[in-house]
This record gives sequence, C-alpha cells and structure tokens, in this order.
Amino acid sequence: MRKTLFESLMRAPLTEPAPAPDAQMLAELGAQLGKSARRRLGRSLSIREVDAGSCNGCELEIHALNNAFYDVERFGLRFVASPRHADVLLVTGPVTRNMREALERTYAATPDPKWVVAVGDCALNGGCFAGSYAVVGGVSQVVPVDLHVPGCPPPPTDILKGLLALLQSVN
Ligand code: SF4
Repeated sequence: MRKTLFESLMRAPLTEPAPAPDAQMLAELGAQLGKSARRRLGRSLSIREVDAGSCNGCELEIHALNNAFYDVERFGLRFVASPRHADVLLVTGPVTRNMREALERTYAATPDPKWVVAVGDCALNGGCFAGSYAVVGGVSQVVPVDLHVPGCPPPPTDILKGLLALLQSVN
C-alpha cells in the first residue's frame, strides 16, 4: 500500500501537454475577421451560441474564445444573449428532439441577414449520437446551414477560421 502510494505521488501527470499557443497566427486571424465583419456589416459580428444537444465538448472550445488567451472581443466579435441581437447562430451538437423547437424558434427570432454555422461532427450528421431515438439528426435537418466546422471538437482557431471563411464568402 505504501509502495503504491509512493509510486502514484512520484508518477508524472497523465494529462496531455497543452498545445503551444501561436499568438501571432491568432492575432492575424482575429484582425482579418474583425476587418471582414466591419466591411460586411459596418460593425462588430454578434454571435449567439445554441447548444442543440451536444456533449459540451464543443462548448468548451467555444467558451475558450472568450478566455484571456483568445479574447476574441478585442477583434470585434461578441457573444450575445439573445438571437434578436445576433448575426450568426453557432449551433453545436446533434439536434435532439427536445431542442428541435427551440432551435427553430431561435432561428426565426434572428433578424436577416443571418448565418448558421454548425460546429462539430455531431452538428453535421448527428456524429456518434446518430440513430439515437432522442436525436433528429444534423443541424441542417432543422434549419438551413451556411457553414460546417468539422472536428470532435474543433479547436478555437478552427472555429475562427470558419467564421472568417463565412464572412469572406458573403463579402
Ligand atoms: S462533435 Fe464531439 S465534442 Fe462536439 S458535441 Fe459531438 S461528441 Fe461532443
């Protein structure tokens, strides 16, 4: 027992090391995104996040966009509390039957022009939850999708790249 305790205290942590931050790439990406938003909208881009039934893995990556490292507000991207203030709906997860109506109502409440970005593999086709009795399917089965960001979950930089691609495609 004492030996096991000693070994567990001496063993290195089993967690993976954090990826090296690429601050320059992030700054360039964020600056381009902010510029594209101002050119297209004349102001900041407002994003409403909708969890349509995800495992919350995708939410962790989306939340990271607001942490001290990514801090996307400095580039002019804002997460808003109401779809009535949003330009983009960032939707995660397979759409569950319980969330279907909420997603439809959120989409209807978002003013035009609006875009829907489906984030994560589940948002494409249900991912590992496909076929479940509780799941309708991917986001496009409920509302029109303009862009899909793949990954399980996609890292914050992929989400930023997706938003940039979206804005550049509509400029
Ligand atoms: S794509 Fe992966 S992380 Fe995102 S909701 Fe699905 S299982 Fe979770």
